[in-house]
Amino acid sequence: MLEYKCQREGTHFVVVNPRGTTKECSNCGVSTEKPLWMREHSCPSCGFEADRDLNAAYNILARGLAKVGVVHSDSMPAETALPTDTVVSAKRVIETGSPVLSEAVRPSRAG
Ligand SMILES: [Zn+2]
Repeated sequence: MLEYKCQREGTHFVVVNPRGTTKECSNCGVSTEKPLWMREHSCPSCGFEADRDLNAAYNILARGLAKVGVVHSDSMPAETALPTDTVVSAKRVIETGSPVLSEAVRPSRAG
């Protein structure tokens, strides 16, 4: 039923293993034992606090995105943006440098 609805709405449907999604911290990945009555997730490792079900939902989403091939990482966009900027700057240096070079070559051809 859910798969059909996802197809109809044009989104992805991915089945993930829900094992440990409640215990696992969605922020740092550290697994902590917690009884069912404990409704809040409070990570002893990174201090991340969220509703128990919200934390589990984040983990399920992360597992689903990983299956689809979307890497959920904060450091990735910054790493890909930096080399792109470096390439653009390097191209600009070559472009501004080449007219000077062709002008310098031309008089030597004529003479
Ligand atoms: Zn944590």
